[in-house]
Amino acid sequence: MRGGPTTSRAINRRLILRLLRQQGPVSRAELASLTGLSAAAVTFVVAELIEEALVIEREAVVGATGRRPTPIDINYEAHLTVGFKLHRHHIECVLTDLATTPLIASDVDICDPAPAAIIETIAATIPRLLQRAGRASDAVVGIGVSIPGEINPATGICLQSPRFGWRDLPFAEMLAERVHAPVWIDDDVNAFAVAQRLFGAGRTHRNFAALAIGAGIGCSLVIDGKIYHGSRSAAGKLGHTISVPDGRLCECGRHGCLMAHAAEPFMLDEWTRLTGQAIAWEPFVEAVQAGDDKGLSIVADAGKRIGRHLADMVNLFDPEVIVVGGEAVAFGEALLGPIRCEMEARTFFSNPKLVPDWVPNSWARGAAALATQAVFDFESVSSG
Ligand SMILES: [Zn+2]
Repeated sequence: MRGGPTTSRAINRRLILRLLRQQGPVSRAELASLTGLSAAAVTFVVAELIEEALVIEREAVVGATGRRPTPIDINYEAHLTVGFKLHRHHIECVLTDLATTPLIASDVDICDPAPAAIIETIAATIPRLLQRAGRASDAVVGIGVSIPGEINPATGICLQSPRFGWRDLPFAEMLAERVHAPVWIDDDVNAFAVAQRLFGAGRTHRNFAALAIGAGIGCSLVIDGKIYHGSRSAAGKLGHTISVPDGRLCECGRHGCLMAHAAEPFMLDEWTRLTGQAIAWEPFVEAVQAGDDKGLSIVADAGKRIGRHLADMVNLFDPEVIVVGGEAVAFGEALLGPIRCEMEARTFFSNPKLVPDWVPNSWARGAAALATQAVFDFESVSSG
């Protein structure tokens, strides 16, 4: 960005970019009246943004009263971001445009969870994605990596990630040095929430929760348009609230956390306990979708447990809606129904709607959105 983030030029840029993102193409005159900026200021900022290929003039429509003014739009296609979502054994990778629309996606295995090995894997993947998309590396404006754990997005340090055994790791800096591009990192559920806020179901809500249920459980809070990270980047860890005192061992090292009694590993272990047979995730999902009684009861029990904890979150934060994502959304109403029932029975006043969001590459798009967000500096805008 040119100039500091608080200069009037920077503020005007953010205002105009935000308006274009929310409203789609509008003319310079409409931009002036909607933002309250002068026509001269709009013309100046738009010229600068066109020069940087961040906005573009679309084709004017010829109406009954003659040619209409040229619409200005964000040039979503001109710039690319790359998103990486780190899972325990593999990395979801996606090359997207500025609207986080996926262009090319791939999945690579993690052979070695050491940071240096993961950084090498990511660095090797970027040129392959670009080659498959037929795009040049200079179109990449940033790289986003989502990591399960406590992440400080401002410093780019992974404070801890129990899933990878990392502590105080300057991951963003290490990767940026290797790939020579700006890198943004955040917790995976926060990244999912950022994508929802920018381009998903949370786009029209200033206060909402983004619940993700997969290998773990997390619930990011978007408060007044911004992700609430907390004082130590540890907010939103709904999965680590204690559900069963002295219960199952959680990956965080404690016993009885909600995620140890309701997330993916729990469901698979329950299946083994009830049937005497081990099962992988995909066949388990298929069994539940096919109406298997045992599978349905496992998912319903997990849903009820999540719903009880979600009610506490609703009583504390009163979100407008709860967007639900993660692998477990594949169960649909078999999971969402029990969550909703239990949550509604226990909330004091507010009953926010559960909005499932499951589109392909949802996790990796969230990671890409970390870079998109930084390009537009959305969160610095005081209202939106
Ligand atoms: Zn835990």
